[in-house]
Amino acid sequence: MNRDSLYIGGRWVAPSSTETIAVENPATEEILGHVPAGTAEDVDRAVAAAHAAFDGWAATPMAERGAHLGKLHEALAARTADIARTIGLELGTPLKIAKAVQAGLPLTVLRGYADLAARPAEETIGNSLVVREPVGVVGAITPWNYPLHQVVAKVAAALAAGCTVVLKPSELTPLVAYLLVDAADEAGLPAGVLNLVPGTGPVVGAAIAGHARVDMVSFTGSTATGRAVSHAAADRIARVALELGGKSANVILEDADVTKAVKVGVANAFLNSGQTCAAWTRMLVHRRHYETAVELAASAAAGYRTGDPFDEGTRLGPLVSAAQRDRVRGFIERADARLVVGGAPVPEKGYFVAPTVFADVDPDSELAQEEIFGPVLSVIPFDDDDHAVRIANNSRYGLAGGVWGEPGRALAVARRLRTGSVDVNGGAFNPLAPFGGYKQSGIGRELGVHGLIEFQQTKAIQQ
Ligand code: NDP
Repeated sequence: MNRDSLYIGGRWVAPSSTETIAVENPATEEILGHVPAGTAEDVDRAVAAAHAAFDGWAATPMAERGAHLGKLHEALAARTADIARTIGLELGTPLKIAKAVQAGLPLTVLRGYADLAARPAEETIGNSLVVREPVGVVGAITPWNYPLHQVVAKVAAALAAGCTVVLKPSELTPLVAYLLVDAADEAGLPAGVLNLVPGTGPVVGAAIAGHARVDMVSFTGSTATGRAVSHAAADRIARVALELGGKSANVILEDADVTKAVKVGVANAFLNSGQTCAAWTRMLVHRRHYETAVELAASAAAGYRTGDPFDEGTRLGPLVSAAQRDRVRGFIERADARLVVGGAPVPEKGYFVAPTVFADVDPDSELAQEEIFGPVLSVIPFDDDDHAVRIANNSRYGLAGGVWGEPGRALAVARRLRTGSVDVNGGAFNPLAPFGGYKQSGIGRELGVHGLIEFQQTKAIQQ
């Protein structure tokens, strides 16, 4: 592996510019290393390599594509400890969570796509043979909060579908992407099928989004950048898949197990220091249990230890960068609600934010409407199920959510939420289920069969 190179056409190659990007450890503020700052010219080279590889990869029998992904999975699994450590360093995820979630989840997803790659891609409808074919060259632009999962959710699905890929990981967390590409190289993935161009969003990201020969852009990140990517792709009518922000509600109904709902809800909101698009950042509680829930949430949050991600007892690492910490502190300082725990700045080195809970949050306020992306929970009371649904749906986002209560009643409320996924009474995350957003949370779905189909065109052949 060569972190001063790009990976294009199955080889580690020199970047066109000598400029580099420093990667920082957000827990210590020390520089971990450097990666090249790619250019539009590098993107051109990578897109050309992806194009050259496309016909061969698209024509590779599906079982063979699946076998390639199986080998990639094996090579990546052998790097599990390194993945967790790298993400612990560049993002600050506590090691235990980095192993279980940041490394474990993408491995599960990749294994799933190795199997799904061999799934039949045609059906007969009347006199038509309906076939699904790969879209073409995919540009994948990913963020820093789940830096391997977000890459694998795109790359594995696109490759399984028969597409080739040019990947630009976040400039804040590019190191783990090198581990993936290193694994792909070792696994013998055909040249040009997966290409890596690290760099900044305004340069490499924009060049991918606007490139005439990129057939589809798959983006995860903020709604503002997703909008820019969408505009850039619109000129040539390229397909876009967008996984954007969220402001999800955890609805605790009158007949819920309140203790469990609050405990799981706080854990969900604070996972990865709150830097999770699907985080349940609004806790809606029936008035009968409201003060109890506020107290439970405050004491749960107060028990979250922040600190060194490599210390066993740490539950919350730092935020990814000084800019992100300052952005989150801004929301806390502007908040107009009852502060029940946290709120104060953390004086130690590193970009830490104390776990913070606000109660009596106005559903229309900035706290309840904006994606904060830090360990900040808003608790909001409601009067009945209809009122809860109205507050939950009062958001320009619609990514995820939770509902707790008698199962039939909770399911009925879940059906009324305008979001791409809902967990009823703590239903477990399913890596084969479609994941994506309503409204400004995005377009399209990732994971499982739905995520694979996203990277395919449909053709009808009448005979
Ligand atoms: P961005 O949306 O800016 O970053 C996501 C990716 O897009 C990065 O790879 C970034 O590059 C790239 N990018 C930036 N500008 C462009 C562009 N013009 N064209 C193409 N690609 C571009 O997120 P931020 O890191 O700025 O985070 C800001 C906020 O966004 C967070 O606080 C959070 O609210 C939200 N967010 C949501 C995520 C989610 O999963 N829903 C993930 C990340 C952020 P670069 O490497 O230079 O950053």
